[in-house]
This record gives sequence, C-alpha cells and structure tokens, in this order.
Amino acid sequence: MKELIQRAAQDLVSSKYAIALTGAGMSTESGIPDFRGPSGIWTKDPEAEKRAYLSYEKFKEDPKEYWEERLSRPSSMLGDLGKMEPNPGHHALTKLQKMNILRWIITQNIDNLHRKAGSKNVLEYHGNAFRLRCVSCNSRYDPEEYDLKKLKEERKLPPYCKECKGAVKSDVVYFGEPIPSDVAHQSLEEAWRCDLMLICGTSAVVYPFANLPIIARQKRVEKEGKTDTGLFFVEKIPGVIIIEVNAEPTPLTGEGISDYLIQGKTGEILPKIVEEVEKTRSTG
Ligand code: NAD
Repeated sequence: MKELIQRAAQDLVSSKYAIALTGAGMSTESGIPDFRGPSGIWTKDPEAEKRAYLSYEKFKEDPKEYWEERLSRPSSMLGDLGKMEPNPGHHALTKLQKMNILRWIITQNIDNLHRKAGSKNVLEYHGNAFRLRCVSCNSRYDPEEYDLKKLKEERKLPPYCKECKGAVKSDVVYFGEPIPSDVAHQSLEEAWRCDLMLICGTSAVVYPFANLPIIARQKRVEKEGKTDTGLFFVEKIPGVIIIEVNAEPTPLTGEGISDYLIQGKTGEILPKIVEEVEKTRSTG
C-alpha cells in the first residue's frame, strides 16, 4: 500500500495534465450512502433502484405533477445534503488543485461537496442537487431565483426558464435522462486531454460516465527512441496513467483499464498521497 501511494504521488508530480473522476464512494465518509457499495441504497433496497428509474419519465409526462410531488417531499433519499460536510478526501483533491497538479474534477456526485471543500474547475456530470436546470437550453438556476411555494399555491408549476421558457427541473440527471450536452462535451475533452486520471470512489458501472476512462485508455502518444545500432525510431505508447482509489476492485481494474488500484478509503488514501506529493516536491 505504501509503495502504491508513493507511486501515485510520483506519477502526479510527473504529470502535465491530471484530472480526477469521482463517485459516490468519495462521500460515504461524509455520511452520504453510495448506491452499490456493501451498505449502498440499492444494495439494501433493490426496489429503490426501480423507483429511481421512474423520476425522469414522471417529469417528461407531467412536469406539474413532478414538481408538486417534489415540493411535498423536501429531503432527498441521500439524506439532508445541506448538512453534509466534505471529508479529508475532498480536501485532498482541493489541495492537489491548489498545487496546480489537478486541473479538473469530473464528479458523478450531486452533493456539492467538492465545491464546499473549495475545489474550482468541477464538472458535475450528473448535476448538482442544489441547482435547477432548464431541460431545453441547460441554463442553471439557484432555486432561490424562483418562488416555488408561490408557484405551487397559484398552481403555476412547473417553473419556466428565464432564457428560453423551457420547463425547469432539478439539475440532477435522472436515470434515462441525457447528460447535459455542455458537461458531456467538456468531460470528453478533458478525458482525451489528460495524461493522468485519478479515479476515486466509483464502481464505474454507470454509463456514459464509465466511458471516460475507456476513452482515455485509447490515447497513444509518440515516443522517440534509438536502437543499439543508433537508428532513431518512433513508437506509440499509452498516453495516460490511470489510477483507481476504491474500496474494492471495479470493472476498470479487472479489464486492465486502470494501471493500478490503491484499495481502501478515499478519505484516508488521498490525504496520504498529498503528503507524499508535498515530500516529493520539497526534495526536488
Ligand atoms: P456506486 O455506489 O455505484 O459505487 C461506489 C463505489 O465506491 C463502490 O465501488 C464502493 O465500494 C466504493 N466506496 C464506498 N465508500 C468508499 C470509500 N470511503 N472510499 C473508497 N471507495 C469507496 O457509485 P457511483 O459509481 O458514483 O455511481 C452511483 C451514481 O449515483 C452516480 O451516478 C451518482 O450520481 C449517484 N450518487 C451520488 C451520491 C452523492 O452525490 N454523494 C451518492 C449516491 C449515489
């Protein structure tokens, strides 16, 4: 374990454009359950997974009813997210950003904890539970921008977009709902551009997010070499190092998409990686 942490630190220091991909496992140490871990919501209650698949259908069929139901049930199945605080794993990624090592965090989490930890450059692939989004033009809104209670009383739900008059829903991307095109596009660009991908706390089975490491893996860069007889040659080598930090192996581990897995808790391993990065940088 210690050697892998040192290896990750060395790889991060040598990288030119590192990004992190994060999932629900990143926030379990903040008290937010994941879906598919041993104590995950789906693991304990498979029916909850089936119900979750209906949310987007409900919005498409009857946005008014979707909103009325939503406003009568204020807390999410993940608990009272507003009360949750970032854990040492979130803070470690923020530190890596402040060191200019980590350029972007692409998260599947909707809990806002990367931003709460002070991270900038966060792409919220599945949205943010504290925002609303127009399904037509992707404009995002702070819920405070709408008087939702009044709209409900006056039977004027759903709220409509101030830009294009499209229907507005939670920014959270529901099962079956397309990833907002702006975030999908930039995430693809970052996955293709990075030379190091640090994947933290995701089972990597939710698509299209799980495609991002697969796309990065396909990248090849040219490396010049010299044969024993002095001839120059150019070979194509993998253009990215993919590191997983997860409580258990994932399909990325099994299928050789990741180079190595550091198995354990993100809240414990990521701060140790940062410590090693600091040591490596101070010694040269
Ligand atoms: P997942 O539940 O499918 O997988 C979580 C993975 O993290 C599992 O492999 C688990 O073993 C591992 N894990 C759990 N705790 C860990 C820890 N402390 N350290 C390291 N690894 C840990 O989660 P997913 O892959 O992100 O997919 C679930 C989907 O559900 C996502 O799309 C996300 O949008 C949503 N979700 C979000 C939250 C959140 O915002 N916090 C919580 C639950 C689900």
